[in-house]
Parts: sequence; C-alpha cells; structure tokens
Amino acid sequence: MAKKRITVAKGDGIGPEIMDATLRIIEAAGAELEYDFIDVGEKVYLSGNTAGITNESWDTLRRNKIFLKAPITTPQGGGYKSLNVTIRKSLGLFANIRPCKSHAPFIDSKHPLMDTVIVRENEEDLYAGIEHRQTTDVFQCLKLISIPGTRKIIRYAFEYAKVYNRRKVTCMVKDNIMKLSDGLFSNVFREIAAEYPDIESEIRIIDIGAALLADHPEKFDVVVTLNLYGDIISDIAAQLTGSVGFGGSSNIGDGFAMFEAVHGSAPDIAGQNIANPSGLLAGAELMLQHLGQLEAAERVSNAWRTTIEDGIHTGDIYNPQNSKMQVCTKEFADAVIERMGKTPRQFATVEYDKDSYHVIDFEKYDRPTAAKTLVGSDLFIDDSTCTPDELGQKLESLTDGELKLKMITNRGVKVYPNGLPETFCTDHWRCRFVHKENPKDVKQMKEVSRTSVSELLSKLLNNGVDVVKTENLYYFDGELGFSLGQGE
Ligand code: NAD
Repeated sequence: MAKKRITVAKGDGIGPEIMDATLRIIEAAGAELEYDFIDVGEKVYLSGNTAGITNESWDTLRRNKIFLKAPITTPQGGGYKSLNVTIRKSLGLFANIRPCKSHAPFIDSKHPLMDTVIVRENEEDLYAGIEHRQTTDVFQCLKLISIPGTRKIIRYAFEYAKVYNRRKVTCMVKDNIMKLSDGLFSNVFREIAAEYPDIESEIRIIDIGAALLADHPEKFDVVVTLNLYGDIISDIAAQLTGSVGFGGSSNIGDGFAMFEAVHGSAPDIAGQNIANPSGLLAGAELMLQHLGQLEAAERVSNAWRTTIEDGIHTGDIYNPQNSKMQVCTKEFADAVIERMGKTPRQFATVEYDKDSYHVIDFEKYDRPTAAKTLVGSDLFIDDSTCTPDELGQKLESLTDGELKLKMITNRGVKVYPNGLPETFCTDHWRCRFVHKENPKDVKQMKEVSRTSVSELLSKLLNNGVDVVKTENLYYFDGELGFSLGQGE
C-alpha cells in the first residue's frame, strides 16, 4: 500500500507526549503513513497570530487533507479565535463523529454495554454566530439549517452505519416546536432512511431522546443530530462510558478530515510523562479507519484492549481492584506495542468487515428551482411604551396600501387582536402584514408586490415607528415558508 502523507500537530500541554506515544503505536501496527509536522496553538497564538495557525501550515493542511491533531491550549483573553472552529469552518468539516464505548469492567461505567456513535452536524444551526440585540429587552441568535447541510450529514450517518455494520440510526430533533428548521431535518431523515431498508431508523424528540440515552445508552447505535444538540449529547454520551478521557473524535469534510482526542491539553500534568494517550490513540484509530487502513486499525484496537485487560493502566484510571500495574505514558505505549497482534480475552475482538468497507461518498447537492411567491411580511418593532391594542390601532391607522395588519405576537404569543391581559409583553413586537383581501385559508394567501413592503416600511419609519427588522413571508412551490402564529 502506498504511504499516505498526513499532517500532524503535537499541540500543547500533554500533546507532544501523547502524540509521540500514539505515533509509535500506530507505526508498530503497520500504519502506512508519512508525516508533515506543523506548529499550531499556544506558541503561534502568543507570537501574535490570533488564529493560532500560520499560512504555511494552512498550505500543508490543504495539501495533505488529513490532519492528526493533539490538543492545544487556547490562551485566555486576548481575542484568540478557537483553532478548532476555524479549521472546521474553513475546510468544511461538516460532520463530527464521536464513538462512545464503555470498557467495563476495567473502566468503571454505569452502562457497561454502551457502544454508541454520535454524528453531529458541525457547521450550521445556532453556531453560525449571527446574533443581534434588537431592543432593550430582546437579543436574537439565528438558527440556520440548510437543505444541503442536512442532506450531507444524514447521508453520512447512514453510510457510516453501512460501512461499520451498525444496525440502527436514530435522529434527534425538536420538530414538534421548530417545525420548519428541525422539521426539515426529520423530513430529510425520513426520505434518506427509506433508501437504507436494512438499517433500522427512528426519530426521537431530543429532550426525551437524551433522557433515554442517559438511562439506556445500549439501546442507541448511531445517533444523528443538529449542531447544538450534538454538542451537548456527545459530551454526555462520552461521560456515560465512564470517562471522556478515552474518547477520540473525527471531523469529516468532503476530501478533508481532522482527528483528535476529546480531552484538552491538561496543562496541570504536562511534561510529567503520566498522561493517558488512549484518547488521541482512539482519534488515530478513526483516522486509520477513514483511510481504509483497517488491518492497522484493528491491530491498534485489539492491542489496546489487551493492554487494558491485562491491568496495565495509567494513573488517571488506576484502581487497585482492576489494575495490576500503574505505568507512565511511554510504558503504556510500550505495553500496547508488545501486545501488537494479540486479541483480547474478555473484550470483544475488533474485526472490520472489509467487504462492506468503502470510502464514504458525500452527497452532491443539485439545487432545485423553487417557485417563490411573496405573500406578506413580518415587521419587528421596538416599542416599550404601548399596550398591544395601542400598537395594533396605531399600525392600522398608518396602513392604507396593499398590506394590512393581520396580527401581533410578543415572544411568539398572539397579543393582538384579542390578546389576553395576563400575557407579559416585552418591547419586541412581531407584526404580521398580509394582503388586505386575504382569504382565511393560509394556503390561499394572495401574492403581494415587493414595493408594497418597502412602501409600508417607509411609511412606518417616517411616522416614528421603530422597525428593527423585516422577514418576508413566502410560499415555496405553494408550500408555506414560515411558521403560523397561534390560532392563525
Ligand atoms: P482537559 O481535558 O485538558 O483537562 C481536564 C482534566 O482531565 C485535568 O485534570 C487533566 O489533567 C485531566 N486529563 C485530560 N486529559 C488527560 C489524559 N490524557 N490523561 C490524564 N489526565 C487527563 O480540560 P481543561 O483543563 O478544561 O482544558 C485545558 C486546555 O485544553 C484549555 O486551554 C482548553 O482550551 C484546551 N482544550 C483543547 C481542546 C482541543 O484542542 N481539542 C479540547 C478541550 C480543551
């Protein structure tokens, strides 16, 4: 097999110690790799580079496309940007994969049978970082979910399940509340799941889904979810295995991928040769799988399992009941290397199905042409002095064009017309304007002209109404492209 050239960063804190141990182990397992080393992290940040990575290192990353990264330290304050977020976004690493497996009885876990893989969407959702303060009372963060982003991550989850012989994929969403954004995620999931009849599929609401995951993680196999939910449940799932210290993770894009440990740079124990290299080794194993070097990945995994079974443990997991010998980082790596080629007695032996393995394809998006019809506009107004009725009457008195006020909501609750006096109102009002001759049926709304929206906006602004933003209401191919207000 031709050697694959990859980029390696030894990182900060315990990074160099655990990276040296990891590279020695994967080489002993027969990994066919060559390395380009780059410096990222603390040293680069403190040299005045707020991104923590130089242009030369970017060139190396982009050339090799595969990145094995030890944890880095982000200095406090000083406006330093998270290197992980920068790399993820710049290289389009849309999928974060985190296998969470228990290693009981050698590592204490309340869930000894847990073997779950969390597939987290990595680029969208509230992490777009688009936030605004719109009024004295109200702050906003935009949750952006796209069709191509959703299709890519869900297709990836099913392909992952197929390649690694996983039996079930669970989708976690909150589509009972966020019917358009999370609803897109569950609809695409249903559509793609139908193409994989051999893989069981289910959709769960994230709140009860997360509760069930915490109680019975062994019932979950592959879980695919949106960015924020995935961020939270992947840490919970890693902790349920007994320790986040064993977790590796991969960040996958189209052509690019980054592999790392879940834990950080542990500056408190840096330079002492006592760190456990298992998390980074798990990341390296994911990399070997991704590269199709399955035999090397199996050897690493089986030798590591045998070492853990033999009771050879680093200080962080040493426990007189299960451990036979406490070792330092280098000795642990030596022990794993000595066991290369052995298979565990108590843990299951890892064996990948070489026949089902294929490089996971990424779904290419062919954007359809959707017919878009403008049927109204939501105007958001800052007013801290009025009551709902006063605002409603004022807006009605100012509007005499094509558009007419239909309703006002405050934090999503309808307050005009016919609101309840008990409803607490902030200074942030969503005022929905639609065609003045609209029928009741929301699927039959009349088209409005673009100029009618700008005329309405000018009229209100010129009369001292503080419009802080507008959101137009569209049909896409005749389907509603907006959520309805209560009772609408
Ligand atoms: P941490 O994961 O580095 O450490 C938490 C605790 O776990 C510490 O007590 C540490 O000694 C212990 N620990 C962690 N890894 C260990 C290992 N392999 N073996 C034995 N013990 C281990 O978390 P933190 O202290 O919150 O963060 C330290 C630094 O790491 C911060 O600068 C943070 O920004 C950074 N960090 C980086 C990454 C990354 O590069 N992907 C991820 C998380 C945190």
